Amino acid sequence: MRIGIDLGGTKIEAIALSPTGEEIARRRIATPRDYAASLEAITTLVRELEQAAGGTGTVGVGIPGTVVPRTGLVKNANSTWLNGQPLGRDLEHRLGRPVRLMNDANCFALSEATDGAGAGARVIFGVILGTGVGGGIVAGGRVLAGANLIAGEWGHNPLPWPSDAEQPGPPCYCGKRGCIETWLSGPGFERDHAQFTGRALSGPEIVQAAARGDPDASRALARYHDRLARALAGLINVLDPDVVVLGGGMSNIPGLPEATTALLARYLFAAGASSEPVATRVVRAAHGDASGVRGAAWLWSDG
Ligand SMILES: [Zn+2]
Repeated sequence: MRIGIDLGGTKIEAIALSPTGEEIARRRIATPRDYAASLEAITTLVRELEQAAGGTGTVGVGIPGTVVPRTGLVKNANSTWLNGQPLGRDLEHRLGRPVRLMNDANCFALSEATDGAGAGARVIFGVILGTGVGGGIVAGGRVLAGANLIAGEWGHNPLPWPSDAEQPGPPCYCGKRGCIETWLSGPGFERDHAQFTGRALSGPEIVQAAARGDPDASRALARYHDRLARALAGLINVLDPDVVVLGGGMSNIPGLPEATTALLARYLFAAGASSEPVATRVVRAAHGDASGVRGAAWLWSDG
């Protein structure tokens, strides 16, 4: 059996999967906001799952950051109490077995590539459109982590082909302006709508208003579709994946994969000038919110 842990900023999810990927047991708790309590919580979750499943399992953990291979220390986690900590070593010591750690967006991509919306594809790009914008690449069934461990972090590239009104773009927490994340995250979508209308609505409220035919909300949604198509076209020009899998809260917008696909040919290299259909499929995640934790379990798919 494979155990996956998704160490999120607000909750920790834990799952036990059978060798064929069926869910055997699952737990969810609020994330403690300090390091020692997080270690304790993960250890307890593993024990509880093993008790419920009646066996022991491999353990993979998805984290909101990366582990520096040379030192084994966590970096770039927005759950800042993890940064600088030897999370893998500490968990291995407590659980008495090897533990694999991986960035949570990479876990999402691995889950969808293994038995989700990208199953059977050679190269998939997994996209998280949530509070932030992240991504992960799986090629030939393996996560491509990258030399700087930032492969797939397209959220901090600039929005391609910006209009005058989109420049220089909103400031991003990373220190730059106009990052894709500042346009395509949930908060980015809400800010854009509020700027045009002077009304502060939540993302779901804007989507509902657009469905009722509200012209301002419909225009905000159309801008979102167009920006997502531009951002994906820039990515496809480099990676040319077989499948782009959309996840995160914003991926639940009805019709998002279809609307984006229809706009891709306008931006993709040469595709606009040829009659060839775009070969890359843009699809919604098959496992929804469970993809992160399932991908963490699949970190041990080779052993
Ligand atoms: Zn940024």
